[in-house]
Amino acid sequence: MNDTDASDRGAVGADRTPDVSNQTVLITGGAGFVGSHLAEALVEDNEVRVLDDLSGGAREHVPEGAQLAEGDICDHETVAEAMDGTDLVFHEAALVSVEESVENPTESNRVNAAATVNLLERAREEDARVVLASSAAVYGHPESVPVSEGDSKDPTSPYGIDKLSLDHYARRYHDLYGLETVALRYFNIYGPRQNPEYSAVVNVFFRQAADGGPLTIEGDGQQTRDFVHVSDVVQANLLAATTDRVGEAFNVGTGRSVTVEELAETVVEVTDSDAEITHVEPRPGDIRHSEADVSKARTELGYEPSVSLEAGLRALAESKQGR
Ligand code: NAD
Repeated sequence: MNDTDASDRGAVGADRTPDVSNQTVLITGGAGFVGSHLAEALVEDNEVRVLDDLSGGAREHVPEGAQLAEGDICDHETVAEAMDGTDLVFHEAALVSVEESVENPTESNRVNAAATVNLLERAREEDARVVLASSAAVYGHPESVPVSEGDSKDPTSPYGIDKLSLDHYARRYHDLYGLETVALRYFNIYGPRQNPEYSAVVNVFFRQAADGGPLTIEGDGQQTRDFVHVSDVVQANLLAATTDRVGEAFNVGTGRSVTVEELAETVVEVTDSDAEITHVEPRPGDIRHSEADVSKARTELGYEPSVSLEAGLRALAESKQGR
């Protein structure tokens, strides 16, 4: 599952992290991509528990010092046990594949929405703060970019619908029950240890470059995406863990987008590859433009994305080559 090793840990990213210490922290999905980077950032100064069924993550991603409970977030008893005595929860576990959610909307709803409601209920009992992984997928096809938190939401997949439901529940659990929640709407995250089965375009291009090419762009390559390095996503989570702006949702991207063509060219460059770039049929229903307006996170959380795409891709190339 893992195409990198421990040497890739913490390759880039300025240290802008607020102090989160002496807490009992649960990270659902902590053996996965984002969750394991979060675990790493927290393990030194906190008691860190990871709840993960290892369906997409890997045991070796969990840093030393964190306790791994192998289990399903849909199982109420397992969640109650993992949450016992927690101060802070980062909810990252999810059925992450949009395609899979289209094939099996019931399962997406069970894992992404229903399990979240149960987790929020347990958090009420523990009076724990919950930071939840929402997604840019809540916006569907944005009417214009950059997209702000208040813009219209019209998700185009069961995954997006379930993330929107998670996002709404987070806010309403604050309004109705006073629970401290923060929803983070992640844009396109990249970095070491990303689930290789997840068809993220950065992953695909790196694999294609390693295989000697070609890099295949779906469509004309002029579609744009906001690629955010995982260390900046960790920064946003740690800020969310300490903010007084609870009951809110925040975009987590960089506020800059690039075309998929530019991404392909940069991957070729940073991997020193001579792979060609070709175009294949566009993906049906592909979103044309995606870019986060991160001014709310900047102003209210103090979030400042610190890794440029080129630096992040270069570091990723080096970690994959074991340099
Ligand atoms: P990932 O697949 O690497 O991590 C998800 C983890 O959840 C995996 O370790 C998997 O084993 C675990 N998991 C899945 N189902 C589970 C279950 N039923 N019980 C327990 N554990 C379970 O994905 P990621 O990229 O780290 O994503 C983290 C979160 O961020 C997810 O909620 C995802 O929807 C969201 N998100 C990610 C991106 C991105 O670009 N990576 C973008 C938007 C939102």
